[in-house]
Amino acid sequence: RFITIEGGEGAGKTTLIDGLAKRISKLGRSVLITREPGGIPIAEDIRGVILDAGNTNMDARTEALLYAAARRQHLVEKVIPALNKGEIVICDRFIDSSLAYQGYARGIGMDAIWEINRFAVEETMPDLTLWMDVRPETGLARINKASSREINRLDLEGLVFHQKVQDGYRILQQRYPERIIRIDAEQPSELVLEQVFMELDQRFKG
Ligand code: C5P
Ligand code: MG
Repeated sequence: RFITIEGGEGAGKTTLIDGLAKRISKLGRSVLITREPGGIPIAEDIRGVILDAGNTNMDARTEALLYAAARRQHLVEKVIPALNKGEIVICDRFIDSSLAYQGYARGIGMDAIWEINRFAVEETMPDLTLWMDVRPETGLARINKASSREINRLDLEGLVFHQKVQDGYRILQQRYPERIIRIDAEQPSELVLEQVFMELDQRFKG
């Protein structure tokens, strides 16, 4: 089972994943937690290039291709082998991030992003995607409070960009309502976790 977690900055994806991992392993299931871009050395290197605050001249299509390349390597090296062993894989960000950020917010267009990502992932798509829906104002305020978080190139973007990211995710959720579940991420993290567990119980009995 392949589950991806999506959402804008400060939506609480990492906190949710920590909580999910604890509960699932308590149930005795083996679970692989990973993230994008990254998760393996080649993809972490690509992540470093993309997010380097010094790379202010990076072209939007170059960025999109780098995300797709990191995604491909991460899938082949880590995600697909785990799925083949029957593990539950939970991934912090996946293809919907590219569609929302590069496709919609950066304005490349979702269709173009689909094309390069279809090339990258072939048939592997998430069984379920949890979209952590938070207003950019709330999310950015959370991030500014968490001083330990590393500053990256995207932090230089303003509210308008992050608003577009949220709109992009909303469009995706409306387009793929079977796959993408909206979670109200304005709620405190304990309530988010409860809601997610209810959804997972309903979807996958046992
Ligand atoms: O998930 P995380 O916050 O670690 O992502 C790192 C950064 O990469 C974030 O600032 C996010 O906005 C950005 N990102 C992006 N496009 C993607 C995936 C992530 O701009 N497709
Ligand atoms: Mg995070």
